Amino acid sequence: MAKIGINIATGSLQQAEMIVGIDLGTTNSLVAIIHPETKQPVALREFNTSSLVPSIVHFDEFGNPTVGEVARQFLELDPQRTIFSAKRLMGKSYKDIQDNAGYFAYKVIDDNTESLVKVQVGDQFFSPIELSSFILKELKQRAEHILKTPVTKAVITVPAYFNDAQRQATRDAGKLAGLDVMRIVNEPTAASLAYGLGLKADQEATIAVYDLGGGTFDVSILQISNGIFEVLSTNGDTYLGGDDLDRAIMQFWMQAGGITMEDLKQHQALAQGLRLKAEEAKKHLSSHDRFSTDWNGEVLSITKTEFEGLIAPLIAKTIDCCGRALADAKLTADKIDTIVMVGGSTRVPAVKEAVSAFFGKPVNDSVNPDEVVALGAAIQADILAGNNKDFLLLDITPLSLGIETMGGLMDVLVPRNAKIPTSVGRQYTTHVDGQGSMRISVYQGERDLVKDNRKLAEFNLTGIPGMPAGLPKVEVQFLIDADGILIVKAKELRSGVEQSIEVKPQFGLTDEEVEQMLLDSLTNAKQDMVTRALVEARTEGEQILAVTEKFISKNQSLLTQSELVDTAAAMQALQMALTMEDKNLIQSKIEELNEISRPFAERAMDQAVSGALKGKSI
Ligand code: ADP
Ligand code: MG
Repeated sequence: MAKIGINIATGSLQQAEMIVGIDLGTTNSLVAIIHPETKQPVALREFNTSSLVPSIVHFDEFGNPTVGEVARQFLELDPQRTIFSAKRLMGKSYKDIQDNAGYFAYKVIDDNTESLVKVQVGDQFFSPIELSSFILKELKQRAEHILKTPVTKAVITVPAYFNDAQRQATRDAGKLAGLDVMRIVNEPTAASLAYGLGLKADQEATIAVYDLGGGTFDVSILQISNGIFEVLSTNGDTYLGGDDLDRAIMQFWMQAGGITMEDLKQHQALAQGLRLKAEEAKKHLSSHDRFSTDWNGEVLSITKTEFEGLIAPLIAKTIDCCGRALADAKLTADKIDTIVMVGGSTRVPAVKEAVSAFFGKPVNDSVNPDEVVALGAAIQADILAGNNKDFLLLDITPLSLGIETMGGLMDVLVPRNAKIPTSVGRQYTTHVDGQGSMRISVYQGERDLVKDNRKLAEFNLTGIPGMPAGLPKVEVQFLIDADGILIVKAKELRSGVEQSIEVKPQFGLTDEEVEQMLLDSLTNAKQDMVTRALVEARTEGEQILAVTEKFISKNQSLLTQSELVDTAAAMQALQMALTMEDKNLIQSKIEELNEISRPFAERAMDQAVSGALKGKSI
């Protein structure tokens, strides 16, 4: 039954509660809805103001937060109490960000490099989740004020390269702000939706989404088919954006006017003024050929040509990233059907021209680049609200997911680039008689040995009733939901004991780290294969030794004297081989032992033996 509510402000009846779309950006955030009458997505704005809410939180001396435009004015004037770019800290440990620690003008706590970061303001501490929740609360209030109705449900966007921890942190921030987060959607996917891409069930297209924001750049290659979005690759530079264009202009003026960095450090108000003028100039030059202004009695001016000269190297960097994204997706520029421009900085004509030249076709820039992600989120929200039932949105896993098996091997359950949501199950068994518990260690990465991958979680399946090794059947299941959050379940099928865990890894992986892990797996692939084969042979050898020993002690009477002697010799030979690094030798000794033991094993084959002889154990 559909819920019907009454809008208190207007007295009109309304349908079930609206789900809003939120772009929680590094620089700016905003909220959008599907207009109930026009059915078109619109960004919400207070009368006569911008739809953009700067993603900045300022704390006054009592620790009360203010968000947005007002907070922005304190960037240079009260830097220690003015938190910008909290999104960069989501799901990160201090270790993750220490190389860029200089970027943050406020205090990021570094006393424990392994745990998640906090920000210190006066004597208060805030997690990035709390900081983001202040921004989300502001957006929620804005929406409620404009719509005159409670808003409790939202779709929130995140960069395509965000990992589980960062997505979960975003979800938690929503919860903290009083929002039920219906779905986390990738920003490039949302932007494509705003252009109507993927909204027809039979549409097939390959899309490049170029997103140049305030402080970050990323490019994603997406493929749509049958209403399904797949992220083929992502690339970018997490410290390159519009701020760098502002800085280029500032430096240009400083050189011309003989102003040094030291001067600016001495006078924060001066620095603020100059930065604001630089941003004003940059925006002006997106639609004019020159800019000139008065600054403390001096004339600051710059032409479009001068500006373009300054930023050419920065644009070139983004184009290099586009090349790498294409290579990762195993595509060439001519295979891209549509290029979608996202982020305020794509208003710079030189940026559009460079992107268009690289891909060899005009770019799509008809939708406001500041709003396009939020508008797409609103479309997704509308789909979730059941107003558009024809399709679903899929993403893929950036790295393989698996568990540790005997000998420290990585057993992959969900391969890299698998489509999500997904669910995969596999059976394992014990390797020790009477083993009452089994440790399930979950890893992410492409290497064959778990020690080279990244541990996400670990838990014990306990209460397995005493059974001979190889007899318990433990089904391990990986479920990844549409938000990319992993749930691991383990169940012993004979007894029914079960245990599950939601994986909220403590540390985020940056896209560089993901890249590094992939690179490592390539460079080490050959060595990894050799190691894996050796570990597997050793594990098999050890199991066979254990099983044979057990068999003989139980069934001595079934064996002749010569069988006993031969078996002991073969076991000793195998034992010796296990101490050496030679897989082939181990295998041949296993074969020899098998040859000798086969006849009597067949005589008294029991399930435990056969169970242990095959199948992986943990
Ligand atoms: P984010 O996604 O990182 O939150 P946005 O997409 O909101 O960022 O982009 C913000 C950036 O866009 C700022 O650096 C801003 O100066 C820049 N910007 C906005 N309008 C223009 C314009 N007309 N010309 C050039 N840059 C612009
Ligand atoms: Mg953005």
